[in-house]
Amino acid sequence: MKRDKSQELFDEAKTLFPGGVNSPVRAFKSVSGPPLFIKEGKGSRFTDEDDNTYLDFCCSWGPLIMGHNNDKIREAITETVAKGTSFGTPTKLGNEIGKLIIENHRYLEKIRFVSSGTEAVMSAIRLARGYTGKNKIVKFEGCYHGHVDSLLVKAGSGLATFGESTSAGIPKSFIEETLVLSLNDLQGFQDLLEAQSDDIAAVIIEPIPANNGLLLQDQNYLVWLKTLCDKYGVLLIFDEVISGFRVGFEGASGYYTIEPDIITFGKIIGGGMPVGAYGGRTEIMSHVAPDGPVYQAGTLSANPVAMAAGIAVLKQLLEPGFYEKLEAKTKRFCDKIQSHIEIKGHKMHMVQIGSMFWFAISDKRIMSADQIDPKSMEVFKKMHHYLLENNVYLGPSGYEVGFVSAAHTETDLDEASVKICKAIDYAFA
Ligand SMILES: *Cc1c(COP(=O)(O)O)cnc(C)c1O
Repeated sequence: MKRDKSQELFDEAKTLFPGGVNSPVRAFKSVSGPPLFIKEGKGSRFTDEDDNTYLDFCCSWGPLIMGHNNDKIREAITETVAKGTSFGTPTKLGNEIGKLIIENHRYLEKIRFVSSGTEAVMSAIRLARGYTGKNKIVKFEGCYHGHVDSLLVKAGSGLATFGESTSAGIPKSFIEETLVLSLNDLQGFQDLLEAQSDDIAAVIIEPIPANNGLLLQDQNYLVWLKTLCDKYGVLLIFDEVISGFRVGFEGASGYYTIEPDIITFGKIIGGGMPVGAYGGRTEIMSHVAPDGPVYQAGTLSANPVAMAAGIAVLKQLLEPGFYEKLEAKTKRFCDKIQSHIEIKGHKMHMVQIGSMFWFAISDKRIMSADQIDPKSMEVFKKMHHYLLENNVYLGPSGYEVGFVSAAHTETDLDEASVKICKAIDYAFA
């Protein structure tokens, strides 16, 4: 397969952007070859500059739940953009999307729009601190919350709760405000809250951890986090930037019927435009400026074009049976691959929830980041290479999850499952 144009463009991009990219995973560092330079997409497929077309399971890392270039979203954008792109004032479209979300989400009374998932998380953390008057934040190893300074922290060696930054440029004093625990560690969490809850403003978790494999937690564990947070006066933040509107309109909160204090959104909420949001009960959200003392603002926040795209995607998600259909087709697709894996006896398994899936390269259930063997990523690398050569695109890292969109047909998924089974055989050969 020819990738000359992508290679040429990547060589040029390297003279323009650090690593040739504007977001690090795009550089294909964990897999082989140059990153694909994509010029257009429609439905379940996109086409690169060399005119190769691929069935896409990355879907822009999650936002494209309706697939590429969805007619209704595109029409909403073009209709709105014809009237201007931004006014720096409130708009009717802002009210419309606000109502659409709040009326259909049992745990949201007020919401604030921002322009990315990172910004949503950063603002939610500030709100939690402003609301509780406390400073420390608890996060979990293997959960990603955007590139927020105080959350680019992993468990250090030695005592689990003392973190280390995962990026240069973050003051040690910031890191000291973040405590890191392993997922699914009930006792560790209880001990930590018992000892330090007077200093802890909030616990932040991806209720469906989907940025370091798909580390599905038990509902009991999440319920228990909520119970202890309430008991110790610590806010619970669900980072639903991926899971929000993905496993159901009410995201993981609705899926597990757990009410967090603050929920953060991104990805799907903007219908492919840059949008993030955070929300919760009025009593907490009223601490945000100008109602309250927690300052947070944005020049392009809730800009009408992005709001129109958001409305257009959310309305489609609210159609009866939308999620059931999407989940059923994803499950059928994963089950096919899973039975192949079992017949061949490969040491891996499929993990799936809603329309997300992950290739767990282990025969054991994986519930925390430390259970992933970094060496297993070699298997993924081979799969990725094989699939790229066979016109199937997966996110370029074995730690990333795959997404099925409403535009993926049963025929697409049958074609993909056959190729994926072959890719798995190839990788284990
Ligand atoms: C993608 C993601 C973010 C960051 O969102 P950006 O829009 O990339 O800033 C934060 N949290 C989670 C759970 C995410 O998946």
